[in-house]
Amino acid sequence: MTTAAPALVCRQVKKSFGPVHALGGVSLQVAPGEMVALLGPNGAGKSTLFQILTGLFVADAGEVEVLGADMRRNPVAALARLGVVFQQMALDLNLSVRANLRFHADLHGLPRRSAHLRIDAMLAHFGLADQASAPARSLSGGNRRKVELLRALLHEPALLLMDEATVGLDPASRNRLVDEVVALTASRGIGVLWATHLVAEAERAHRVVVLDKGLVLFDGAAADLCLQQGQSSLEAAFLQLTGARQ
Ligand code: ADP
Ligand code: MG
Repeated sequence: MTTAAPALVCRQVKKSFGPVHALGGVSLQVAPGEMVALLGPNGAGKSTLFQILTGLFVADAGEVEVLGADMRRNPVAALARLGVVFQQMALDLNLSVRANLRFHADLHGLPRRSAHLRIDAMLAHFGLADQASAPARSLSGGNRRKVELLRALLHEPALLLMDEATVGLDPASRNRLVDEVVALTASRGIGVLWATHLVAEAERAHRVVVLDKGLVLFDGAAADLCLQQGQSSLEAAFLQLTGARQ
């Protein structure tokens, strides 16, 4: 009997920058098809964790596995299975939307012909077909983020990492981006780790992991966090949980 490996496993991940304990032993899991919100205030350690998950930093201690591939022993296999949208926007604004995507497909070594067909199909799916030849600079903030999401999906990752992906977007664009990602978990069975400081976005996830000062304070359903804290809204429960430690 075989069971599908979790999309992501972190075990006791630690990282310090000099005296700053950015991550004090973080453990969490993301199942295939599951959207997990990593909810924490600024400075909680969300981006540091993402940098470790994408191999940009090496953890001081702990283990990371993507689809069963260990990030330390087998980084190529681990990285091949993940797609990421970083907190900082990373499109070449002077290149066309399509050229940005083709460049990324080439970087991943995807076969050109099938990649180009896939890019056009995905642009159409995201409602961006009309803008394929336009410079990325001409797109709205929401559409730039969609292009980054599309780019992260080009190599069909099993795990999608989104770091504060809605920063700078208006509420309607935020909602649309969250909608797209929720739909992906259902349609493609992708596991998603969605880092945010916004409670409204965390409410859309299947599960919430609350991170504060490098420690996981809660891991479970939003409704259970409300129950645990005796609050009727996730916002109030989150503020009580994190505020209690100030
Ligand atoms: P978040 O993304 O949740 O806002 P970060 O992971 O960016 O949090 O930061 C966590 C902590 O680690 C903060 O105290 C931050 O100042 C510190 N930190 C992050 N990156 C560095 C770095 N490269 N050098 C020194 N300190 C850092
Ligand atoms: Mg951050």
